[in-house]
Amino acid sequence: MFTAEIKSKANEDICILIKVENHSYNYICECGEAKDLSVKECQNTNAIFISHTHIDHFVNFDTILRHQIGIQRKVVIVGPMGIIDQVQHRIKSYNWNLIEEGSITYEVREIQSLNQFRTITLEPPLWEKQNEQTINNSPIFVKKNFKVEYEILDHKTDSIAYLFKGNNKTKIKLTSEMKGGKWAGDLIRAYNTKSNNQIINYEGGNVKAKELYHLINIEKGKSLGLIMDHAANDSNHNLILRKFEACDKVLIECFYKNEDKELAIKNAHSYAAKSGEIMKRCKVKQAIPVHFSRKYKEDEIEELVKQFEFANNKP
Ligand SMILES: [Zn+2]
Ligand SMILES: [Zn+2]
Repeated sequence: MFTAEIKSKANEDICILIKVENHSYNYICECGEAKDLSVKECQNTNAIFISHTHIDHFVNFDTILRHQIGIQRKVVIVGPMGIIDQVQHRIKSYNWNLIEEGSITYEVREIQSLNQFRTITLEPPLWEKQNEQTINNSPIFVKKNFKVEYEILDHKTDSIAYLFKGNNKTKIKLTSEMKGGKWAGDLIRAYNTKSNNQIINYEGGNVKAKELYHLINIEKGKSLGLIMDHAANDSNHNLILRKFEACDKVLIECFYKNEDKELAIKNAHSYAAKSGEIMKRCKVKQAIPVHFSRKYKEDEIEELVKQFEFANNKP
């Protein structure tokens, strides 16, 4: 359901493009420098998710903004505490005297805690904060077929880890003797709306929906996680375990090789063995290490990935 393309080359900063099956827009996670991110991909983006605003995750925001001017619709930006001011300041540092009204609107959602976010909109030419609201107990981003959840990890600053979660699908297990028909749609609707006593016309008779629930099969929605910079400590690992257990696919920060563990601790980052180990504990089906220190050469990154795989596949 979700595909994640890493748009940044090894010597660039992290940027991931997410595409969703049967969905016309795509999603950008992290705004690191990424020359492979095309104009069209920026224009076709519906929302941008930023874990934190260290420069390697935010430097390319201006390029995305540059390409989105003129798309004449709203783009959502989700990020940690401070993101509203930071986005506004970045935009306001340019001269907008020639921009047309309605060229683009940004709605910025600033995560305050696990169940609260603040939202504002910014519009040209003045880009003043408008429609400020504090939203409680609501998902940070929802579309018809999926939603996005998050955990707040510690990286000596908040670092938001995002989980794209496809909706479960309710299906009917049809056997070879059974015929589909109107009843199947009625039954699925009754199940989804918990109308357990609704009468279903099934094989010439009237039956209560709940008596046919044994025919229902729930197909679990796919999940894709993005875990960026975080200290490899127990409290972060417990949060990762809570949110990303049994995920289909996770891209996880793996900034340092095991030999540079001391640097990882100093900079509140993770390193190969720890990222591999937590992915193994989460029983993630496909775990992909991303976001390596730019000090490493190609062969060192290969070594780092091997260290990650070793920890992830340890019996
Ligand atoms: Zn960082
Ligand atoms: Zn980083």
